[in-house]
Amino acid sequence: MTIAAQADSVDRRPLAPTPSLRALRDGCSVYRRLTGRDPGNAPIESEDDFDAHVLASILAVAATEDGPLCQRTGLASPELARLIARWFPCALMEVHAGGQDTMPDGDELVMVRDLLLANRSTDGDEGRWLAHMVARRAIEPSHLWEDLGLRNRAELSRLLDRHFAPLAVRNTRGMRWKRFFYRMLCEDDGFVMCTTPVCTDCCDFENCFGEEDGESRLARRRRDAAASSVPV
Ligand code: SF4
Repeated sequence: MTIAAQADSVDRRPLAPTPSLRALRDGCSVYRRLTGRDPGNAPIESEDDFDAHVLASILAVAATEDGPLCQRTGLASPELARLIARWFPCALMEVHAGGQDTMPDGDELVMVRDLLLANRSTDGDEGRWLAHMVARRAIEPSHLWEDLGLRNRAELSRLLDRHFAPLAVRNTRGMRWKRFFYRMLCEDDGFVMCTTPVCTDCCDFENCFGEEDGESRLARRRRDAAASSVPV
């Protein structure tokens, strides 16, 4: 049975609140419960596997944070429930959407979300869900790939190339993705980030073009947990 067919068969199941989400707040545990694998071993060769990895990573990292999952992911509860039912049906009874709907969105989040929605390159719900999720995670403070729970910047680049190609193709100079979104908003919607018209004259250059390396949040939590002997 295809993933879509599975979703159609389970979309209308009620979401039973369970206490297990809190018990699964460790990101690696959430990821494993969703996919059956450790995030470090995720196969991402096929587009379906890659999408499953991306969605599980976002859910996993969001579940490590305070607040309802819907608010941390930027998806309203019914949409989050549909996503989980479609992609992770085996986890449906264990990782419920939980909590109230999203809080009112700030202007910045809405502008990034609209930018992504307008530049989708895939049909179906996934691109729309990811536009909401990426925009919501972009207001977190770290590199965007980290706050999406991904393993590196290359995975974020692939996500954007796949689902938001008309936008991604415009990042010809390899800007940091979050800054690139704002640069596009500067050009298209009058959002004010740039203090100079030319990047090479700008004192903010390193923030826009610096390396986006580091250790993934899930890997870091796993390492910290291992160091303190807390099971994950
Ligand atoms: S380096 Fe300066 S001018 Fe260029 S995108 Fe960044 S903030 Fe804008």
